[in-house]
Amino acid sequence: MSTFVKGRCPLCHSGVFVASGGWLTCSGSDCPDPTFVSEIFAKYEESNKNLGEQLSALRAALAIYDYITALLDSLADKGE
Ligand SMILES: [Zn+2]
Repeated sequence: MSTFVKGRCPLCHSGVFVASGGWLTCSGSDCPDPTFVSEIFAKYEESNKNLGEQLSALRAALAIYDYITALLDSLADKGE
């Protein structure tokens, strides 16, 4: 028995189900690309991964900024 998921295929608006191997597959017999939904999912995952890496880099940059700011503050305190 196929498990249908919420949402429709963007290409033909048929229902989408989980095929063997866990792949999201369009049920439309006239669908130009039944595995298109799986590809979208994979791309979404990939872009989220890139976003995660960018956020990590941003956090690292902010940590360095905080460190330098604290260092400059302590140097300024010593200068007074
Ligand atoms: Zn389709």
